[in-house]
Amino acid sequence: MKATCWMGKQNVEVREVPEPQILNQSDAIVRITSTAICGSDLHLYNGFVQPMMKGDVLGHEFMGEVVEVGRRVHKLKVGDRVVVPFTIACGNCWQCRHDNWSLCENSNPNGALAEKALGHAGSGAFGYSHLTGGFAGGQAEFVRVPFADVGPLKIENELSDEQVLFLSDILPTGYMGAEMCDIRPGDTVAVWGCGPVGLFAIMSAYLLGAERVIAIDRFEYRLAMARKCRAETVNYETVDSVSETLIEMTGGRGPDACIEAVGLEAHGHGLEYLYDRSKQAVGLETDRPIALREAITACRNGGTISVIGVYGGLVDKFPLGTIMNRSLTIRSGQCHVHRYMRPLLERIQNGEIDPTMVITHRMPLSDAAKGYEIFLNKTDNCEKVVLHA
Ligand code: NAD
Ligand code: ZN
Ligand code: ZN
Repeated sequence: MKATCWMGKQNVEVREVPEPQILNQSDAIVRITSTAICGSDLHLYNGFVQPMMKGDVLGHEFMGEVVEVGRRVHKLKVGDRVVVPFTIACGNCWQCRHDNWSLCENSNPNGALAEKALGHAGSGAFGYSHLTGGFAGGQAEFVRVPFADVGPLKIENELSDEQVLFLSDILPTGYMGAEMCDIRPGDTVAVWGCGPVGLFAIMSAYLLGAERVIAIDRFEYRLAMARKCRAETVNYETVDSVSETLIEMTGGRGPDACIEAVGLEAHGHGLEYLYDRSKQAVGLETDRPIALREAITACRNGGTISVIGVYGGLVDKFPLGTIMNRSLTIRSGQCHVHRYMRPLLERIQNGEIDPTMVITHRMPLSDAAKGYEIFLNKTDNCEKVVLHA
């Protein structure tokens, strides 16, 4: 079959690889009809999330048709149409039973590696390095889905692939980012990053009752998309200080909650950016927490910072004193996708969210390499690339 393979830093190729097989009787094999490229894939592409091996199959946002099931799969049958969450979860462990699906204790076969790096292991994930289990991803013609009775959401209505595909990751992620803000009526929420995750965080903040959302990025076309979602916008390249601008815009108090939807490859300007780039380049810090620092500085006293941008390891110049002295709360996590799929499917059906508005590029799987390139470089006003079978 054809699959998008990681071949090294900024090098992906669609290649012929062996078709996946049922390995456990709780697996299903899914024929992919639609898949997408995520900001998280860019962290792999740029070599920041490791370990990756040449030939690893990428892709964690996908959906398709079940073509084979193991003997212990009872809820799915051949022919079912499913969206698959990017996190792999067993459904039975302590964390799964507590609704914390991205922390499943049974699904990451490389748990020991993750424990060494992070203290404890998170769940397995599709196409997301050997730290999350080395599972082959879904930017491919077929994929093996473990715990097939637990994760996949059956789509039994007329909704198109593009309307439901993002239930696999970015819609639940943006929603969880907003939910972690415990939004109350009258609240102002600031969102760093107007990529697809940031846009879904903006939409979700309004759905959850925010009065104002202010979005920050540097690409005008992305800020325009944020305005379409009713956000006010700040182009961080046109202001001296994002934090001061936000504090001014909120009558001196600061946003009630700040969502970081940028992650470890944040850009910036001036000395701070140079400092982080150089430290990251020589391995003295793994992540550039530029947006995160701003979110912490800008947030009102007693407010919440919700971190959904991906971080890999250690950051420098982390303002812990600000957090402690101003009673800030930091919440974070890989999305517990399973928790949100069904309720968000209902919101799509009710017309409360239109996930298709983030899509700017559609192409065949065979063009995946081109998709990575334009999404990375934000060329041709690229916001989100969907690859169709
Ligand atoms: P993306 O690359 O399309 O968007 C990131 C945006 O951040 C870009 O528009 C960029 O210009 C902007 N940005 C960079 N530096 C900034 C700064 N200093 N201030 C404000 N904006 C800045 O990516 P995406 O698909 O929207 O994903 C965003 C992040 O969310 C990534 O880190 C991704 O890995 C992460 N993510 C996390 C989860 C999760 O489960 N927590 C799931 C999906 C994606
Ligand atoms: Zn993703
Ligand atoms: Zn589990």
